[in-house]
Amino acid sequence: MQTVGRLEGKVAVITGGASGIGREIARRFVAEGARVTLGDLDVRLLGEAARELGPACTTLEANVTVEDDVERLVAAAIDAFGRLDVGVNCAGLSTFGPIAELSEGDWNLTVDVCLTGVFLSVKHEARRLLAQGEGGSIINIASLNAVQPAEGMSAYCASKAGIDMLTRCAALELGPHGIRVNAIGPGLIDTPLTQFQRDLPGIRAGYLENIPLGRVGTTQDVASAALFLASEESSWVTGDLLLVDGGARTKRYPEMFRLIAEGLADLEQQDLGT
Ligand code: NAD
Repeated sequence: MQTVGRLEGKVAVITGGASGIGREIARRFVAEGARVTLGDLDVRLLGEAARELGPACTTLEANVTVEDDVERLVAAAIDAFGRLDVGVNCAGLSTFGPIAELSEGDWNLTVDVCLTGVFLSVKHEARRLLAQGEGGSIINIASLNAVQPAEGMSAYCASKAGIDMLTRCAALELGPHGIRVNAIGPGLIDTPLTQFQRDLPGIRAGYLENIPLGRVGTTQDVASAALFLASEESSWVTGDLLLVDGGARTKRYPEMFRLIAEGLADLEQQDLGT
């Protein structure tokens, strides 16, 4: 990876930084000269990230749904590196269930992590950036599902659409202080979160049919967008939702109920055959 120091001297907090997209953003930011503090629930993966990234990285076990944890995470970045310039709010999960059967528990879990967690993170990052008085950049990881509905994913889609509006509200309020707030909407990216579509090849094919650029996305694709939004190259961009989806927005979301039913039936057939 070529490094040109586009984030030299900057300090970033990254929630959900232990795995997948958050981990790749941490890698890219450090390669570009930043120092990062990663917060996550997964202590084992946090340890791995710390060993990989060395002295430019500190980590903290932090649950984004707990306000004290989020406050401690921002404080940890200040303790370690003396300042904050960038917040990347990436922690997330997904639940699946038809709306008529979706439990309140699954709904609440999804909204708590994906939407309330982003709100709490923006709140405490903004407080610190306002106190410093030197501007900054906040990047919320939403989804293509902020704008494109998906069967069985109502809680996730509603949360991600909520991030889009939260991002615009925060951009409106914080713009006069030089703090930019943007969201990224990834399409299908290969990470642990999307293992299901590697387990059921019909689902992966269903996604691919609807991606004009003809491939699934990588964590590097999203990290490149995050680098742009964190750096001065995007200094006049705020309140935006940048879709990183291979053009999937121009088509339609795969028919999840049908594809899952067919995929599970195929697996059952294979089991019977062995
Ligand atoms: P991932 O599972 O690899 O990473 C998510 C990380 O969030 C994990 O390390 C997990 O431990 C952490 N996390 C979960 N709940 C948390 C909590 N309460 N507090 C702190 N950390 C918590 O998945 P990913 O694909 O890298 O997802 C990262 C973000 O990207 C999510 O917000 C996801 O919704 C979004 N996204 C992913 C895709 C995709 O196709 N992979 C597409 C669109 C959006």
